Amino acid sequence: MADNMLGTLAKWLRVAGADCAYADGMVDDDLLKVASSGRLVLTRDRLLAQRCGPMGLYVGSDRLDEQLLQVVRAFPGLLEGEPLSRCLVCNVPVEDTGPDQVKGRVPEGVLERHERFWSCPDCDRVYWMGTHWEDMLARLESIKERAGEGQG
Ligand SMILES: [Zn+2]
Repeated sequence: MADNMLGTLAKWLRVAGADCAYADGMVDDDLLKVASSGRLVLTRDRLLAQRCGPMGLYVGSDRLDEQLLQVVRAFPGLLEGEPLSRCLVCNVPVEDTGPDQVKGRVPEGVLERHERFWSCPDCDRVYWMGTHWEDMLARLESIKERAGEGQG
């Protein structure tokens, strides 16, 4: 349960184009490698966060908004990446593609309404900037605003 909550957080950060790993199904040594390669590691293990050094972040809250706020305050530049640039599942960069390439892989209505698509080279998932994404990005924007408040 707790790790799933971090999975949700990681997914949201990937929405914003951030590159991050979280401590679910990965052994500590692997996470330490991730951290030493300059990528963010989210964990509920305070000790592990310390061992990861500057790229380790201990996440205490169960609430997504609080978690996002904590991450943005710790790593202000993290949400400045390009949205829709990473696969939410694989965390690998997605590739630009067009309507012709995704025909049959997305619903017809989506194909009619959108011109830009992205696909994941690893799992073949197709992404597009639907209202769901717009809602998520709007929520991230409001988190960024909150993070900017009260920091002088
Ligand atoms: Zn993928």
